[in-house]
Amino acid sequence: METVIQIEHLQKKYEQVEILKDINCTINKGDVISIIGPSGCGKSTFINCINRMIEPTSGKVIFKGREITSKSKISELRMEMGMVFQSFNLFPHMTVLENIMYAPMKLKKTERVAMYNRAMELLTMVGLSDKYDRYPGELSGGQQQRVAICRALAMDPEVLLLDEPTSALDPTMVGEVENVIKILANTGLTMMIVTHEMNFAKSVSNRIFYMDEGGIYEDGTPEQIFDSPKKEKTRWFINRMKTYSCEIDPLNYNYFNILNDVNKFTFSQFMSARMKYKLQSVFEEYIINTLLPNVSDGSMSITIAYDDTNDSTDLSIKYNGKALENRGLSDADEIICSLLNSFIVDDSFTAQYENNTNVIRFRMVGNISM
Ligand code: ADP
Ligand code: MG
Repeated sequence: METVIQIEHLQKKYEQVEILKDINCTINKGDVISIIGPSGCGKSTFINCINRMIEPTSGKVIFKGREITSKSKISELRMEMGMVFQSFNLFPHMTVLENIMYAPMKLKKTERVAMYNRAMELLTMVGLSDKYDRYPGELSGGQQQRVAICRALAMDPEVLLLDEPTSALDPTMVGEVENVIKILANTGLTMMIVTHEMNFAKSVSNRIFYMDEGGIYEDGTPEQIFDSPKKEKTRWFINRMKTYSCEIDPLNYNYFNILNDVNKFTFSQFMSARMKYKLQSVFEEYIINTLLPNVSDGSMSITIAYDDTNDSTDLSIKYNGKALENRGLSDADEIICSLLNSFIVDDSFTAQYENNTNVIRFRMVGNISM
């Protein structure tokens, strides 16, 4: 395997705070590495130390056998490491085509015609060849990010670094950008991607870096990290991703936002279609339409815990209000009652009532008949 980047004893301090402590790793040609970890753990600092947007406090970054330390090498290095940010940062006064052609023509003195052809080729790959003469402001966020990817690729980088490329996007546009990154992964381009999208990390990468405690806390294949993490903290982080909690204020809530967030969670967890359907139905018909009107004061708290080993979901619902009778379904439509009763696993339903507070718990399973 050909080593592209070798990192030795990389350390970064701000004042006296050590953000990155002694990071050592080797990135091979064609590696697609997803970097995951809690926010603030240093993921952005790490990838920005690699392309020297941030100056490390100590340690070495060796890129294709050359140690990148001298300042004179930095502009050369930047040409070989493409960078895609959360905020697309396209030049607003330039068209899509000009955005893509600008840097290679200026820095690499690429011929205009050759560069035009290459830019159109890249736009075709990301499905935007018809937008070449538009300005960034005329494009959606997902389209702008796809152009930003083309712009980085126009320099023919050896490595592409992406820092949360889909975090600023509307959920409906995440997929189109992820698909482009998947296409690039299949071309053999070496990439490091900071992401919160576990589903995506699992499907696109050959390696996962779980960062914590100022370093690469666990490094493994997606199967090792997601299915059998060795270390406690990794396990905790991965499992935490499998729970979703929300508060619904009965006097001020947005029905569509709630369902949209639940929907996002079902997608991020590889839930079966049946499980998704049951969970969405339970939110709409049971939680919002049936239980929420009974809340006497304060908000309703809901936690969903999903177990992908058996496609089951545990729900816990807590609110102040009168004691629940007949699962709260006394006034509900007969069809809805039988539908909900059929979703809930027999004997899993419990309702506790104490000090005017209801705590309802039950389990649903996706892979059995509805
Ligand atoms: P992540 O990308 O994992 O969310 P960052 O790399 O952005 O984390 O930040 C890691 C830590 O470094 C955070 O605690 C952040 O507050 C701190 N940090 C980042 N940039 C600076 C800076 N310029 N000065 C001081 N502290 C910083
Ligand atoms: Mg970050």
